[in-house]
Amino acid sequence: MATFRERALAVASSRDVKRHCVEDGPISTYFGQNVFALETMRRYMSDAAFQSILRARKTGNKIDRSMAEEIASGMKSWAKELGATHYTHLFQPLTGSTAEKHEAFLSFQDGKAIEHFKGSALVQQEPDASSFPNGGLRNTFEARGYTAWDPHSPAFILDGTLCIPSVFVSYTGEALDMKVPNLRSIQALDAAATTVARLFEPEVKHVSVNVGLEQEYFLVDEALYNARPDLQLCGRTVIGHTSAKDQQLSDHYFGAIPSRVAVFMKDFETEAYKLGIPLQTRHNEVAPNQFECAPVFSDITTAVDQNMLLMIVMQKVAQKHHLKVIFHEKPFQGINGSGKHCNWSMQTDTGINLLSPGTTPEKNLRFLAFYTSVLHAVRQHESLLMASVCSLNNSYRLGGHEAPPAVMSVFSGSTLDRVFKGILQKEGAAQEAELRRSIDLMSSLPEIIPDNTDRNRTSPFAFTGNRFEFRALGSSANAAQATFVLNSAVAESLRAFSSQVQALVKQGETQDQAIIDVVRSFLEEAAPVMFEGNGYSAEWQQEAVLRGLTPVTNVPKAFQAFLKPSSIALFTETKVLSVPEIKARVEVQEETYVKKLQIEARILGDICLNHVIPAAVSYQNVLIRNIQGSKDIFGDEYATLCKADVDTCRKIAGYINALSADVQALVDVRKKANRITDMSERAYAYSTEVMDAMSRVRASADQLEMLVDDALWPLPKYRELLFF
Ligand code: ADP
Ligand code: MG
Repeated sequence: MATFRERALAVASSRDVKRHCVEDGPISTYFGQNVFALETMRRYMSDAAFQSILRARKTGNKIDRSMAEEIASGMKSWAKELGATHYTHLFQPLTGSTAEKHEAFLSFQDGKAIEHFKGSALVQQEPDASSFPNGGLRNTFEARGYTAWDPHSPAFILDGTLCIPSVFVSYTGEALDMKVPNLRSIQALDAAATTVARLFEPEVKHVSVNVGLEQEYFLVDEALYNARPDLQLCGRTVIGHTSAKDQQLSDHYFGAIPSRVAVFMKDFETEAYKLGIPLQTRHNEVAPNQFECAPVFSDITTAVDQNMLLMIVMQKVAQKHHLKVIFHEKPFQGINGSGKHCNWSMQTDTGINLLSPGTTPEKNLRFLAFYTSVLHAVRQHESLLMASVCSLNNSYRLGGHEAPPAVMSVFSGSTLDRVFKGILQKEGAAQEAELRRSIDLMSSLPEIIPDNTDRNRTSPFAFTGNRFEFRALGSSANAAQATFVLNSAVAESLRAFSSQVQALVKQGETQDQAIIDVVRSFLEEAAPVMFEGNGYSAEWQQEAVLRGLTPVTNVPKAFQAFLKPSSIALFTETKVLSVPEIKARVEVQEETYVKKLQIEARILGDICLNHVIPAAVSYQNVLIRNIQGSKDIFGDEYATLCKADVDTCRKIAGYINALSADVQALVDVRKKANRITDMSERAYAYSTEVMDAMSRVRASADQLEMLVDDALWPLPKYRELLFF
């Protein structure tokens, strides 16, 4: 009988390539057709109701109940016209993915079925949802959880269901999701950044954050995926020998997109466009069968929500193509993993990108104020920022030579670096005029910047001309976890910036002089985190420690950065998270880490005992039959004739014995770890003892893959998974 792998390979190689989501005409004709966007809303409600949504978006004003009734009715009419029968609050619990519970628009009037959607149902739901991780925030008898409409992000229709982007909070108002802290951090940043922006332009009323998320992913044929229990259950391979060829030649990177993939891309892009996701870029990534897409940036809430939606849409469309999208950060050992680069900038309501160097000294002073506040923020919270991207999945990638290093630093580029050195060298006795001259230099920046954005790919946080690119986020992560930390940290630094400027002005300095002084002191403070060199080098790892930075050497330990006094002060002062909320998040992260690793360890043991060892024994039997047969025919000459087979047989026996003992040892350390009651300590034991035991198991399994007859090997190999 053919192995599962052989059958899967046969199926995978006979796929036809065809489009499923065909839309006629240019993208602009169907872009956003399934979104209840502002222009659409206007047609379905009174001006008063429409204005109340605009106010809620701009200033966070609450929408009152009568308006909500009207908005719900408009939303329902629109959704009904597009064939929607159900609605759901779509929220983002601490699992890192999205959650939905559908309700029909169904009600009865005088015994007759009608479509019905009340304002109260739009605004608030109580989906119970008590099984989501909550870190102890819902362990009392008052364990209700509520979802509430977030008007910052538009509602849309997916698979005949009206989806309403929502927050998820506990009965007592604590955040149980990723969205709430992000929204709070945006408010904190708005307030702090507006105060600083007004030093330069008094008309500024609000500052918002723009984000563009680049999404990397792998594609694997569905049949091959289904023949790998590890991919199915963990999203990554827990064993697998490297392929003779993978990414050494860099021939996949930016290469011609395989037809099957190109057709899939067109299909998911079409669905994404209908949902208003402005996808712009697509290309092959470095690893074989690894790809990337990126939308045009938008306001942070929309960008994060749309990224979550995009991941759902890609999975759904992939099904039609018999493909699986793998968002895991490190599906294959030995080749590049996937990230989600977060391009981040701040913009005033008067339309100015605050991270864009200007053409005049005044504009450049503003740029320097905001730029150095970000530097300062990264310096103050470097370990927290790293912690914000840490997870089990990302731990397989961080610190490797393909992904951002495990220590935080900022790359500014040589031009800015020179400007900063100039500013710093004018210490103490600096004359304002001289400083002005040095800043004047900056007026040449717009011309110089484009060359300068030849970015440093080894930096986790790089300036790319008019924005920062936080490059350490994991591909499967909800980006909000990193952005709420970044927003909060920058808000704190901007607050410090304006209060220090105020203090200097009170002491009699001119405002410009005060700003230059604070810029300089922020630059001095941020010095340890500013690094222009190779972030992957061993020297940098050592130097970073000497500079007082904290590389992530262990992920569960890194989570503790959330509990540092400086982090608690940050979150409580910006009102982004309360102390119980912070503690709950750490607990959820630790628990998730343990559970995910437990699943990986189990599946590894299962695969080795039930797939690998039986295949190895089968092949051993083939060899033994051959050896025995040779002996029968050739007598003592068999020893020379079958030397290779005897050697292989011995090697296989050695690996089988090692494998079986190592799987048992893995079970033992796991059980031992499970007895540890303190969650931080248990997570630590998993990250050390359990992971070490897993590596030992894998080593023998991967050796066996190289020894056993290819026809008997049951699991699709890397070379089969990685090339279409
Ligand atoms: P690269 O891979 O070269 O970094 P991509 O085109 O893949 O570039 O992605 C860049 C992302 O940065 C896009 O989503 C883009 O819209 C976004 N972006 C551009 N300008 C800004 C900005 N000012 N603020 C935030 N994001 C931005
Ligand atoms: Mg890119």
